[in-house]
Amino acid sequence: MATEVTTTLRESLAAIDAARVWHPYTQHKTAPPPVPIARAVGACLYDHSGRKILDAISSWWVTLHGHAHPMIASAITEQARCLEQVIFAGFTHEPAVRLADELVEVMPRGLTRVFFSDDGSTSVEAALKMALQYWRNNGEERRLIVALENAYHGDTFGAMSTSARGLFTEPFASHLFEVARLPDPTLADGKDTIAALKQLLDERGGEMAALIVEPLLLGAGGMRIWSSETLRALRKLTEERGILLIADEVLTGFGRTGPLFACECAGIVPDIMCLSKGLTGGFLPLGATVVREPIFEAFISDDRRRTLFHGHSYTANPIACAAARASLKLLDAESAGKRAAIELTHRARLGELSGHPAVANPRILGTMAAFDLASREGYLDPVGTELAAFALNEGVLLRPLGNVVYILPPYCISEEDLGNVYSVISLFLTARC
Ligand code: PMP
Repeated sequence: MATEVTTTLRESLAAIDAARVWHPYTQHKTAPPPVPIARAVGACLYDHSGRKILDAISSWWVTLHGHAHPMIASAITEQARCLEQVIFAGFTHEPAVRLADELVEVMPRGLTRVFFSDDGSTSVEAALKMALQYWRNNGEERRLIVALENAYHGDTFGAMSTSARGLFTEPFASHLFEVARLPDPTLADGKDTIAALKQLLDERGGEMAALIVEPLLLGAGGMRIWSSETLRALRKLTEERGILLIADEVLTGFGRTGPLFACECAGIVPDIMCLSKGLTGGFLPLGATVVREPIFEAFISDDRRRTLFHGHSYTANPIACAAARASLKLLDAESAGKRAAIELTHRARLGELSGHPAVANPRILGTMAAFDLASREGYLDPVGTELAAFALNEGVLLRPLGNVVYILPPYCISEEDLGNVYSVISLFLTARC
């Protein structure tokens, strides 16, 4: 009886979904029907029949401590009963004020002023607008934004403009603003990137407003790792010439690369940092753009035109802020230990997998492990969807970026479960590659 009920529920959800919903990054003609998830706990998702699916990608890189973590769930419930939302212009509230203060406490020293938004893309949009208006407010017309090849900063227009041009941005190319590109820092030890920045500074230094980077890890561009030395060199050059450095830590923030922020690995402090994804532990959408005080001060004036005219209806939503505060509390020494354990398991298991001829460029950065499937290429290579389907059948959620396979688990994942993820990948390699 119970099975019949769940089958009927699953079928009716699937039918309504197919008739009414448009899913992200989904070709509805060819994609298999989406899997209805009924509940989740720890590193696991469960469908309506109780089937377990291990979430090896933290549900698009957001879930930090585990799904439905009771401390974050309680913080959300309590906050929802007390103050669910209030306009954030002209009003403020304790969850946002305390979160801003607690964030500044743990961020690289010097980042002192927090601007809230909705998600990763809007945190980047705010950063770009702040950088451009900062110069205008200071009486300089600097309009040029510099970004990296193979970067990804989000799907809104400013974020797309700074992201690598290609498959995702091609239909909108004529509407994207000009960006100067530096070569991918994962290539040539970053030497070409540094040389290109030096040349650009010589040629167009006076036009440059900001350089935006994903510190140490080009995420959606293929989980490509670059060095702390290169990041330090880019910081030094931008600092010497007074160009703003924007660190997009939407993916790398909150322990993903080991320390709380990837910038810490290089011992640098950017001028602006973008945060989202793990900010609420993966419970609710929230973005933050955190800046050094002189940037904020450039907007302080009797002239109202110097205001940052940017905001979103749900800016600093109290429930999201309460979730973020609870998540920050959980990023303690115990969490650091869990992250270190994940890295150790990655080292052991990816090391074993590396012997397979189909595994190329194995790489690890903190809790992230990745490799390329040899002789396959690009985001549209079907091998990615083949592996995703194979893994799902084995009870593991993977979502390769085409031929790039990566594992980015919630910090609560057990050694055994993480080992199972590798076993499933290994099975696929043996069966299909
Ligand atoms: N920046 C980076 C580095 C990202 O990885 C992402 C999302 N994958 C974004 C920005 C955009 O975030 P969101 O999807 O929340 O808009």
